[in-house]
Amino acid sequence: MEHKKITGMEGMKFKPRKKAVVHRAQCVACGSCTKVCPLRAIKIIRGAYAAVCEKTCVGCGKCRVACSASVIRVEARA
Ligand code: SF4
Ligand code: SF4
Repeated sequence: MEHKKITGMEGMKFKPRKKAVVHRAQCVACGSCTKVCPLRAIKIIRGAYAAVCEKTCVGCGKCRVACSASVIRVEARA
């Protein structure tokens, strides 16, 4: 059986509607969030706090769940 080609999807890009945001001042740089991100979009900067790469993050919320300090929120993109 021949599969039909889906048309009209060419050039479409996935645009996430959400992103993670870290409250830097309260981050304890434990690194738990960095271990669960499937896209490696969150990193510890200078051993001091976690920062999210906005371009890469899809807002899945895994980092938020992993953060024992509860300093990550997932919010809608502008
Ligand atoms: S929301 Fe998901 S993709 Fe974004 S930094 Fe957290 S774990 Fe990674
Ligand atoms: S899990 Fe929370 S406290 Fe730990 S590095 Fe990530 S944002 Fe900071």
